[in-house]
Amino acid sequence: MNTLQKTRSASTLVPTVRTREGAGFLIRRPFPTHALDQIDPFLLLDHLEPVQLAPGQAKGAPDHPHRGFETVTYLLDGYMEHRDSKGNSGLLSPGDVQWMTAGSGVIHSEMPQQAFKERGGILHGFQLWVNLPRTKKMKAPRYQDTKSGDIPVVSNSDDSVSIKVIAGEALGKAAVIETEIPILYLHLTIQPGASFSQPVPLDHNAFIYVISGTALSDGQQVQADELLLYNQDGQTITISASGDEPLSVLLIAGKPLNEPVARYGPFVMNTKEEISQAMRDYQDGTFGEITHP
Ligand code: FE
Repeated sequence: MNTLQKTRSASTLVPTVRTREGAGFLIRRPFPTHALDQIDPFLLLDHLEPVQLAPGQAKGAPDHPHRGFETVTYLLDGYMEHRDSKGNSGLLSPGDVQWMTAGSGVIHSEMPQQAFKERGGILHGFQLWVNLPRTKKMKAPRYQDTKSGDIPVVSNSDDSVSIKVIAGEALGKAAVIETEIPILYLHLTIQPGASFSQPVPLDHNAFIYVISGTALSDGQQVQADELLLYNQDGQTITISASGDEPLSVLLIAGKPLNEPVARYGPFVMNTKEEISQAMRDYQDGTFGEITHP
């Protein structure tokens, strides 16, 4: 069998590390950790766990800069507001995706919506950091705020698999969000006992992250909050829902940049000199500032 038909083999089962981010909200982070610094071109995955927040308890990430990469926020529950130094602002509702190309730099805030914070509720979502190639790190910032209803959802013939196509393509349905480099970002719901095979280009790094239920892939069981990384040895990823409940899982793949990574907090460039420049530009006020109402 050649690699064109072959199903990818499982590489590493990555546990998540609990950490605090922003103003102190708790997240699960499969990477970066000491064991796994990136999955090129992905720099970070944060899972904001679905916890019931009491009135006034919801926290966010107040004003902070980014340069040299993209942040992709996928909200499953709750309401988040964002605001940035370019004058953009918006509300993220359940199912919405914000694909932010920070490029040369923005300062933004990512906070629970005030009304949501006051009444409390469940906040649940993901943030993925996608690196930009050297040629695109200093491009103008861009937002793609995409409402849940505008994100294509496609099902297989017997409705045992439903796929939200955030980036890339699945079952012939293409995403509406545009990416700077080739990226596949799918949210699959697979009914118990069903399985699904998704084509993934051979040159892409790929992983799945289980939100709920149990996945079985290449003989490897993957439980909720675990990430399974694949080897680059095939053009298909096959996932089965092996538990009693539906499997909710993210399948994410991207073409690696294979460039040097210099990262310092919210700045991700190719060299230390570019990081120093980013810090100087930030301190000089080049990124602008947020006008809060
Ligand atoms: Fe941010």
